[in-house]
Amino acid sequence: MDFALNPRESELQANARAFAATALPGAMQRDAAHEFPVALLQEAARRGYCGLGVPTALGGMGLGALEQCIVLEEIARADTSLHVTLSVHNSLACGPILRWGTAAQQQQWLPAMAAGQCLGAYALTEPASGSDAAALHTKAVRDGTGWRLNGTKLWITTGVSANTFVVFARTDPAAQKTKGISAFIVSGDAPGFTRGKPENKLGIRSSETVQLFFEDVLLPAAALLGEENRGFGYAMATLDGGRIGIATQAVGLAQAALDATVAALKPVAAAKGCAFTSQHADFIMADMATRTEAARLLVWRAARLRDQGIPHTPEASMAKLFASEAANRNCREAVALLGAEAYSGGTVERLLRDARVTEIYEGTSEVQRMLIARALRGA
Ligand SMILES: Cc1cc2nc3c(=O)[nH]c(=O)nc-3n(C[C@H](O)[C@H](O)[C@H](O)COP(=O)(O)OP(=O)(O)OC[C@H]3O[C@@H](n4cnc5c(N)ncnc54)[C@H](O)[C@@H]3O)c2cc1C
Repeated sequence: MDFALNPRESELQANARAFAATALPGAMQRDAAHEFPVALLQEAARRGYCGLGVPTALGGMGLGALEQCIVLEEIARADTSLHVTLSVHNSLACGPILRWGTAAQQQQWLPAMAAGQCLGAYALTEPASGSDAAALHTKAVRDGTGWRLNGTKLWITTGVSANTFVVFARTDPAAQKTKGISAFIVSGDAPGFTRGKPENKLGIRSSETVQLFFEDVLLPAAALLGEENRGFGYAMATLDGGRIGIATQAVGLAQAALDATVAALKPVAAAKGCAFTSQHADFIMADMATRTEAARLLVWRAARLRDQGIPHTPEASMAKLFASEAANRNCREAVALLGAEAYSGGTVERLLRDARVTEIYEGTSEVQRMLIARALRGA
């Protein structure tokens, strides 16, 4: 694998870093106010970050997976909530429409999504189906030429502000759990579709997370995404990409915790007139840096495989598993080294709270281990 960024990748990184620098100063305040980053999302759209993988012919940037990782990591380093909103929009909403949508569906949705006029969300999880996603109960039954959708979804990122929802529902109750599920594109203004109150979360507090309620929502035939009863496969394949996106979030968090630690300890060392505050601190920072680099390389490897069209389910899981553990470890180490100051109301405290969810959403760490083990067994 080529470790050095090529000129195009370096330019993408520099541009994303410049955008992230504008997001960083307000991140704490938005977090405290639970404020959705509307203006930043508009600016992100202007820079092309709402259509990272959308072809240029449809108004997007047409980036590959590795290029998207480079952009997303920079954004995560500054603001985790902004990152998850963009990651879900790009990989979990634009992604499946791009991969399985008809030309008409792509024309209907993707230019508006790339322009940031429509934000995307992905609705798989339900009150009784999280890790066991195939246990979902939401159902779509045929009604005339279209469908009638009923059910409840839980923990849906960008659920309030999104206008484009990729929703998974059971379409064949007689089929085996994973077999009778289909994917639909549901408009945010569909009659019978309502949202719950925002969840009160430990971290990523300026991202939206809500319940969705579908009561006799009538969908046209054209809302079906891909083939009927193939939706579970689409949901899982979409998560391969989504997990790489969340892994970039974890790498950004791990790097941010390291940056904050180095920035805080450097002046302490200088004041003491020595090169380091203590060998203990230096060794911990060295481990933090090594962990971050290792996580980044796992993420880039999974992305490279994705770009080459090579199946990458275990590699995406390894990247997410390792990077999310690295992020949490780095945040805990930062607090351990910096003490009470870092524990209370500063950037490190926010990073620590934000990092926890990277081990939960888009598959918990246990689910990642199950997927990796399944690949080892050849199952
Ligand atoms: C902030 C946030 C945003 C989210 N955004 C979205 C979204 O946009 N769209 C969406 O569809 N979902 C979303 N989710 C849901 C998320 O994907 C689920 O929370 C996740 O899949 C875990 O499901 P659960 O919370 O029901 O936990 P459970 O599945 O109930 O798991 C509880 C615990 O049991 C463990 N466990 C479960 N099954 C097994 C097993 N077979 N073997 C070993 N251990 C097991 C889990 O690892 C976990 O530790 C979001 C969640 C959060 C917190």
